[in-house]
Amino acid sequence: MHDRLRQDLSNWLEFYRELGIEEFYRRNPSTPATPTPVSSPATRNDKPAGTRWGAPILRAATQPAAPAPAPVALAAPPARGAVPPSIAAAAAIRPPVTSFSLFETPAPKPTGPETLEQIRADLGDCQRCKLAGGRKTIVFGEGNPRAELVFVGEGPGADEDEQGLPFVGRAGHLLNRMIQAIGMKREEVYICNIVKCRPPGNRTPEKDEVDTCSPFLFRQLETIQPRLICCLGAPAVKTVLGIKEGITKIHGQFYDFANSKALATVHPAYVLRNPREEKILREDFEKIREFLKGK
Ligand code: URA
Repeated sequence: MHDRLRQDLSNWLEFYRELGIEEFYRRNPSTPATPTPVSSPATRNDKPAGTRWGAPILRAATQPAAPAPAPVALAAPPARGAVPPSIAAAAAIRPPVTSFSLFETPAPKPTGPETLEQIRADLGDCQRCKLAGGRKTIVFGEGNPRAELVFVGEGPGADEDEQGLPFVGRAGHLLNRMIQAIGMKREEVYICNIVKCRPPGNRTPEKDEVDTCSPFLFRQLETIQPRLICCLGAPAVKTVLGIKEGITKIHGQFYDFANSKALATVHPAYVLRNPREEKILREDFEKIREFLKGK
């Protein structure tokens, strides 16, 4: 090959190598250089299976390889060091720019479970339902954030509203005794209610109040992931398990709730009003003890 031509060719090859183009072939002069169709860039909705929070920030690594660059027709070779006019052609053979940018990508949601503190912070100085107007204190819940056993009551009474803690009145004292009777301490369990503000006159929480407040309860349960949820009284059973049947019929039975089991029993306040029913509470607490003993 002519020395000059060899040098020119070498310049060209180096130029394209710097652009990342390594392979060349001679185009058959009879074949027109039609552009290779480019498959449309992946959209942000076609997330790969198993991606929890949507598309990964950068798709590039997972996109199919860009189509092979169109053949490059060799024209007048550039002088070494000069910016060849074919830079525009080089741009044309780059992989297509995808239709989204990093700046459009939503901030990734936190993975992993939220903490009770985060849920409490989200609740804030809650004004979401009409109970807010009559409460003194929000009673979020209390106890071991990693409890195996969670009690769900109905709603704060006067003592709870005063102190900001669940089950600290007479019903709470009975609950404490029952917890001790199965060899546990109150600090080991977690205690909360279906609504976090005291209903006026200790009435049963109304549907709109429960609908507004119970998502916070469900988030607490999701975070704690207890082995067993004990629903105290019919409103808790209805909210957690969706069961409307009478508590005296379904108490002491185990139900599935997400990754936990749930059991219903009578509310301690009901037992205080009907002391003969303490037997039910004792029997159900024995079942709780047996359940927690098993692994
Ligand atoms: N009754 C409930 O249901 N919850 C309390 O916190 C206190 C009494």
